[in-house]
Parts: sequence; C-alpha cells; structure tokens
Amino acid sequence: MSATPPALASLIEELVRLPGIGPKTAQRLAFHLLKVPRETAVALAEAVIGLKDRTRSCRRCFNISEEELCAVCRDPRRDSQLLCVVEEANDLLAIEKTREFRGLYHVVGGTLSPLEGRGPDRIRGKELTARLESGGVREVILATNPNVEGEATALYLLRLLKPFPVKVTRIARGLPMGGDLEYADEVTLARALEGRREIT
Ligand SMILES: [Zn+2]
Repeated sequence: MSATPPALASLIEELVRLPGIGPKTAQRLAFHLLKVPRETAVALAEAVIGLKDRTRSCRRCFNISEEELCAVCRDPRRDSQLLCVVEEANDLLAIEKTREFRGLYHVVGGTLSPLEGRGPDRIRGKELTARLESGGVREVILATNPNVEGEATALYLLRLLKPFPVKVTRIARGLPMGGDLEYADEVTLARALEGRREIT
C-alpha cells in the first residue's frame, strides 16, 4: 500500500506530465495546493478548463483567440502589408511584448524536421500562400526559431513564397543559435526583428 492518498497521487501524476515539471516539483506543487484555500485551488482548476473551453485558433493567422479573429487581426491600426511568420502562438506573444512589430502574423504551428520525418504537411504553408494570393502583402518576415528545425522551416517557406511578388526577410542572428524566441529577452528580440535581412 502506498502512503500517498489516491487524490494526491493523481494530482502529482497530472502535474508531472507538464513540461519542465519533475516528480519533486510536482510533489511540492501538490502539497502547496493542499494548503491553499479552496477558492484558490478552484480558481486554478477553472482557469485550466476556461483555457480549453473558450479558446480556439484565429481563422486568419491561427493565433490563440476567443473569437473568430484574434485581437491582432481585429486591430485596424495593424499594417496588413507586413506578415510575420512564427512557429507557435507563444512566439507571437513574445514578439508582441517587444511592442516593435505593427504588422500581422501567421502561425505555422510547428516545424519541418527531416530527421524526425515531419514534412511540409505538418505546417500551415498552404494557408500562408492562400493569404498571399488574396494580395496586399508587401513583406513576409520569417521568424521561425534560430535552430536546425527553424532554419529548415524558413528555407522551405522561402521556396514556397518564391512565386509571389513579396519581399522575404529573415530575423537577424542577434538571437543565440539554438535559442528559442520565447526565451529571448524583449530587447534582443526587438533587435533581431529590426535587423532582419532580405533572403532569396
Ligand atoms: Zn489572427
């Protein structure tokens, strides 16, 4: 018989599934939740449920949204001629925090990985070209992560965008190689965007 009551064990089991949470941290978090007032624990549980029930992908850019179009796409002050391509919605949030970018986004939803057998069908490339077909885009900034998979994805997208009369740029190398956008500080990220170069 385990000394851990089933309710505690099952919470620890769920927490351990989260990224960056090992068994020790999971146990510490579970004991913390055991001690907090009921309302605090319920607020956490409801926030998790709300996230799952109320959010969806933006119809245009695939950002996380509670409406058909996300807040960025709904904002009439954004420059719709400028499109920044990112891997995931959390990269979009990182760029938004810099307050430097005034264009729109396209979340491709992943990366290509020849090694792991992830091909072009795993990213939203067709959706991107569909947006370009409807016209009005002047520049596409490829802001995939500066690691092997991010570079492979940027190269693929560059080829995909070749037939379109748009300028294609890649964020500058200011970011540490292998470092992810979401972990870069705002100043570094703003500089990487500002220093983007045209690629052909
Ligand atoms: Zn959107």
